[in-house]
Amino acid sequence: MTKTVFEKIIDKELPSEIIFEDEKCIAIEDIAPKAPIHILIIPKKPIKMLSEAKAEDQELLGHLMIVTKQISEKLNVQDAFNIVINNGAEAGQTVFHLHIHLLAGRDFSNLFPA
Ligand code: AMP
Repeated sequence: MTKTVFEKIIDKELPSEIIFEDEKCIAIEDIAPKAPIHILIIPKKPIKMLSEAKAEDQELLGHLMIVTKQISEKLNVQDAFNIVINNGAEAGQTVFHLHIHLLAGRDFSNLFPA
């Protein structure tokens, strides 16, 4: 099976700006940032997309959220950030390895206008 770009980053076959890493996940700077702060939080387990996560992934998914919160604190944006998970090509997913986008430093408050 061909590795996704994120598997190559996890395996250190591709360079990246690593913000955080533990045994379950890695967080890197997005190569094409859509905001002044744009971090990707990526589980090491190669789950293709959120809709393919299983009940057994519950702890891992919670861990990703806690790591996201901790990174927001580390970058001092804990009071104003957005997270995004694109699920499926039609929803804008381009890398088929689950990841959370952490975005900050830009006004996203009108994402869902009334
Ligand atoms: P998505 O469109 O939700 O699948 O998000 C994939 C994200 O990965 C995009 O924001 C890309 O800019 C980012 N990306 C792709 N290749 C790399 C890379 N080598 N290093 C860091 N980020 C990347």
